[in-house]
Amino acid sequence: MGTYPSPRDPPSPRPAGARRAVGGGRPCPGAAPAPSAAGWPRAAGAGGGTKGCVGIAGKESPPRVTLPWAEAGRADGEPTSVSPKKHLPSLAASRAAGAARVPKRSARGKSVAIAYESAQGDGAEEGAPEPKRPKWEPRNWRQQLERIREMRSSRDAPVDRMGVEKCYDSSAPPQVMRYQVLLSLMLSSQTKDEVTSAAMLRLRQRGLTVDSILQMDDVTLGEIIYPVGFWRNKVKYIKQTTAILKQKYGGDIPSTVEELVKLPGVGPKMAHLAMHIAWNNVSGIGVDTHVHRITNRLKWVKKETRSPEETRVALEDWLPRDLWREINWLLVGFGQQTCLPVNPRCRECLNQDICPAAKRR
Ligand code: SF4
Repeated sequence: MGTYPSPRDPPSPRPAGARRAVGGGRPCPGAAPAPSAAGWPRAAGAGGGTKGCVGIAGKESPPRVTLPWAEAGRADGEPTSVSPKKHLPSLAASRAAGAARVPKRSARGKSVAIAYESAQGDGAEEGAPEPKRPKWEPRNWRQQLERIREMRSSRDAPVDRMGVEKCYDSSAPPQVMRYQVLLSLMLSSQTKDEVTSAAMLRLRQRGLTVDSILQMDDVTLGEIIYPVGFWRNKVKYIKQTTAILKQKYGGDIPSTVEELVKLPGVGPKMAHLAMHIAWNNVSGIGVDTHVHRITNRLKWVKKETRSPEETRVALEDWLPRDLWREINWLLVGFGQQTCLPVNPRCRECLNQDICPAAKRR
């Protein structure tokens, strides 16, 4: 397979209908192509007598042809990944019919050169992988991210002071620490950081371990965690999950997302955050309502997503993996202070000029 010159390359000064020389749009190293009558290198099979350009490795490059831009299937100015095989019949027909059938340039003069298999089969192998399309990325995302980092540089959002990473006892044995991380994540769902943090503090004053929770009656547990959101359900889930941890995991928490989401009251967001914080393993992006809302406003998802889980999948498709851990912390705090759910503070936001959802009044 040959190279794929950018469609943005300056248009060739060839006369309309002339074909590229063997070897494609770039001159073959060391080759001195014989000029045709029109002063242009001859095409293979057009009297030039040569089948392909001999490259540095001594191999013949396959002959190349020019396809019209529209036929290549892209119109956004990006390199095309069209399969040469798809176009073989039309190319063969064009060649047989002579210059009059050679595909014309588009009105904008854009064209793309692709390699194709010759009739002798000296081109691409059967089943060769097609070139990958350039990966989709949101517009301006690096600039937007950099500005959010700037806005978050003071680290004074509720999540910075009272988030899950501040709720567990960092001096406890690792297994107890991991259990406390999981518990604070369970309490934090649909609950403000301040309320979760206070509930965790009360639990820790009682000695927060798997055994202490199993020994505690439901009423007492409810009184301690109240007023976290859905506290009655959470009492039930905490008791069930803690019993499973004791029986199945020796009092520790599971170390995979698949096992974590099987625990009662544990969803994908909690599982991925538990993997980050408790196991120091970045398994996926923790997407809560803040991350879901902000990434949709910034158009960091190809098309609007309807749930945090859908957003997670869409973000993981393009966001570089080394940012997966940071993005939750960054956007949660940004959502608490600036990009609020209702009435976002766009006038204070550094992204106002490049945010598709910015309110400019
Ligand atoms: S401009 Fe407004 S909507 Fe856009 S990120 Fe900033 S606060 Fe959010």
